[in-house]
Amino acid sequence: MTSACDAAGAERLTRNERAVLAALRQTPAARSAYDLLDELRDVGLKAPAQVYRALQKLIRLGLAHRIESVNGFVACAHPQDDCFAAFAICTECGAVAEITDETLVEPLSRWARRSAFALDQVTLEARGRCRACATATRRLEETDP
Ligand SMILES: [Zn+2]
Ligand SMILES: [Zn+2]
Repeated sequence: MTSACDAAGAERLTRNERAVLAALRQTPAARSAYDLLDELRDVGLKAPAQVYRALQKLIRLGLAHRIESVNGFVACAHPQDDCFAAFAICTECGAVAEITDETLVEPLSRWARRSAFALDQVTLEARGRCRACATATRRLEETDP
């Protein structure tokens, strides 16, 4: 079943936007706009502005996210949800996992209400090692004399 959001999103996407989204969905690692441009030259994207415009639209539709701390972009892992997004970023392989537990942001929302702070956006990015990389490191340590 495709969600309403997915269907609506897909039909509003231009060729460039679809190409950028497909590229983002290929790997779990965040890619910079220039990485994307390199990958998409063959399908006709030639200027950074084209990539940025496509990314902006995808982000607005909730189909992609910007990862501030690595200045990169990922496809949304849950485009059907009204997405509050937090990210766990692997510093070894660059994989980005999306965390959609909204309770993460509740203390901040409470604080914002109490402080009359008009909260627009919360960016939560955790850094560490993904399961695969953490396991690999452990194995190395174990075999070390
Ligand atoms: Zn998302
Ligand atoms: Zn990793």
